[in-house]
Amino acid sequence: MVARFLATEALADIAAAWARDHRLLAPVREGAAVLYRPWAKDMHPFLGRPPTSSAKEALLPQTENLLTYTYRKDRDDLTRTEVFLAEPLPQEPTLVLGSRPCDARGRKLLDRVFLERGVKDPLYEARRKATLFVTVACERLENTCFCHWTGGGPMSEEGSDVLLFAVSGGFAAKAITEAGEQLLAPLPEVGPQVQEELAAKLASPVEPGPAPDLSKAPERFLKLFGDMDFWMDQSARCLSCGVCTYLCPTCSCFNITDENSGMKGKRLRTWDTCMSALYTLEGSGHNPRVSRAHRLRNRVGHKFCYHPQEFPAATAQPEFSCTGCGRCIKSCPVSVDIRSIVLDILEKGDKS
Ligand code: SF4
Ligand code: SF4
Repeated sequence: MVARFLATEALADIAAAWARDHRLLAPVREGAAVLYRPWAKDMHPFLGRPPTSSAKEALLPQTENLLTYTYRKDRDDLTRTEVFLAEPLPQEPTLVLGSRPCDARGRKLLDRVFLERGVKDPLYEARRKATLFVTVACERLENTCFCHWTGGGPMSEEGSDVLLFAVSGGFAAKAITEAGEQLLAPLPEVGPQVQEELAAKLASPVEPGPAPDLSKAPERFLKLFGDMDFWMDQSARCLSCGVCTYLCPTCSCFNITDENSGMKGKRLRTWDTCMSALYTLEGSGHNPRVSRAHRLRNRVGHKFCYHPQEFPAATAQPEFSCTGCGRCIKSCPVSVDIRSIVLDILEKGDKS
């Protein structure tokens, strides 16, 4: 397939053209952070480094309206009240510009939760079908990146519709899906020089270094499950702030609340975090995950044991609910590093 050329100076124009047909989310610099924001006139997308936030919000908004309801009294029988429900199905075509391969892979893992557990989530499904990812291939790894540990890679095409490769003067854009091909149709084909540059990049992709064998992570996690000294040690610094979960492209915990205003109201779904003490607090006052150690164990266990058990992979390498994006490491205020926890599990779980 011939790649298309996206000149740096044409980026804002093509983004504006895409924004005419899509709700476009593009990364912009805000202080030290790079955040996805809805497209606005005079916006300057920043594709120079992975966004601080993940593209998860395009598929699973921080807060969304699940339904609205209205109560109506029966005037002839005031003991009767009828409830009318309206379920808004999101169908707005959406385009995420500037995602990274780890973000795009996160889509597959969110699909497992919202589409592949027997019951499909209609809001997620509608949004998923209507969302395209234009991803930037990574030229270098940050010291928090470990996508290659968990089955991804800096140039992985998985989950993307278009993959952009930085070349002289802009990007070589490769369509991965038919929808991606349509997006790129207005762009010129790359010239021979850029084609050569792209071929060289594809022939020698950025080398992420050796990855540990994580195939035994699920069973070793289970061996350490009851070792609370181990988990207290791992979670000693954790502040239970939840930043790691909010920035994670695969964390999917949510809460559902109703907001009433007189005889009408709405039901909202909002991101939640299993790192919060309130997350599992039961009405009786009992909390099965009473300490930070219990909560961190759950988060790591979900990603590296429960998910691979629930969704067995056809390959020797299990599928983990972690894309190795490193956001939880980069943004944790006390530098809790999920990589070192997994390595400790591998080592200490072997001896238990
Ligand atoms: S970001 Fe760090 S401190 Fe905050 S909950 Fe996650 S591990 Fe704990
Ligand atoms: S657990 Fe951390 S490294 Fe893994 S996908 Fe989530 S934020 Fe990224």
